[in-house]
Amino acid sequence: MARLVMKFGGTSVGSLDRIRAAAQRVKAETDAGHQVAVVVSAMAGETNRMIDLTQRISPLHDAREYDVVVSCGEQVSVGLMAMVLQDLGVTARSWLGWQIPIHTDDIHGSARIQRIETAELERRLSQGEVAVVAGFQGLGSNNRITTLGRGGSDTSAVALAAALDAERCDIYTDVEGIYTTDPRIVTGARKLDKITYEEMLELASLGAKVLQTRSVEMAMNHGVRVQVRSTFSEAPGTLVVDEEEIVEQRIVSGVTYSTDEAKITLRHVADRPGVAAAIFGPLAEANIVVDMIVQNVSEDGKSTDLTFTVQRDQLARAVSVLDKVKETIGAAVITPDADVVKVSIVGVGMRSHAGVAQAMFQALSEKNINIQVISTSEIKVSVLIAADYTELAVRALHSVFNLDSAGSAA
Ligand code: ASP
Ligand code: MG
Repeated sequence: MARLVMKFGGTSVGSLDRIRAAAQRVKAETDAGHQVAVVVSAMAGETNRMIDLTQRISPLHDAREYDVVVSCGEQVSVGLMAMVLQDLGVTARSWLGWQIPIHTDDIHGSARIQRIETAELERRLSQGEVAVVAGFQGLGSNNRITTLGRGGSDTSAVALAAALDAERCDIYTDVEGIYTTDPRIVTGARKLDKITYEEMLELASLGAKVLQTRSVEMAMNHGVRVQVRSTFSEAPGTLVVDEEEIVEQRIVSGVTYSTDEAKITLRHVADRPGVAAAIFGPLAEANIVVDMIVQNVSEDGKSTDLTFTVQRDQLARAVSVLDKVKETIGAAVITPDADVVKVSIVGVGMRSHAGVAQAMFQALSEKNINIQVISTSEIKVSVLIAADYTELAVRALHSVFNLDSAGSAA
């Protein structure tokens, strides 16, 4: 007998038939004698629809009221899920964030979970009642509804699993697990049996959209075993676990790409102390996140070129901020470029193997792909390239690190 958290995403509860299918999976676990807390997202498309309504009123609406509106989708799905479970003979009760409560901070629209009161839930779970919990929402210190940011139900599920000390948190979604790369691009992409928290964290923040990044952070911090699997297939999914649990030795576990970034090049920037601060300070103040940065050597000792990336949807704003500081930094030309993609390789094996970045650069050069910016961490290497080469680059890297077939990298 175990205690499980089962989370169903928007497509998994996208229609009444799908809610019924998801409920069957819950029933299978309770029939096996397990205690189950279910976390659900809004039905597919609902959150977008409500966000659109708030936008149409005004892009500068009150964030507290935004949360009141956009948290509604989950209220519908918990009620429906509880009804369907009851229809199947499973004792079930729905719970909204404030009823538990799931306490959060007061950052409306992207609140963080601080504490979950579990006594009542635990009492009911131990009596065999299924708790159907609304994802994405919580209660702020001011007693108002908060939401956790897009994709936040993953974080609700992992936080609940941690608070309930659950054996596992199963994330049911529309893909069968975490793949070595995007199967739509590389037919030989393989589903991984296991992946480490750190790798998953990199993949999530690098653009693999299966799990909300914060949920992975939370799973890592609390040692929650997470399984990503499909609602629509019986295949086992991918377990996200501690490094010690992984026996298979691989250097690179995945190749990912993100089209969310755009590049800005500043030419003829004065080469003197304080200039970087004068550029990145105003960007930070405008809440623009800068990711990759390169500064070229100065040829004449007076001016240099600086290239960096920002979120693509912040490109226009970034350029207008820079326009204002242009004189101070002595920049003659600001060149924005949205036609770029960030391609990354991720793997904990990089820590102990030399030459991984080199193998990546070599593979790209053999395909004549020019690298515009590079950034690295202990377990990843990212390059910015022209968007047209995305597929070519991903395929080349997937094959050079032997991810196509049997699994272990050379
Ligand atoms: N319904 C919310 C969203 O669409 C939360 C979630 O699905 O995880 O972002
Ligand atoms: Mg999601």
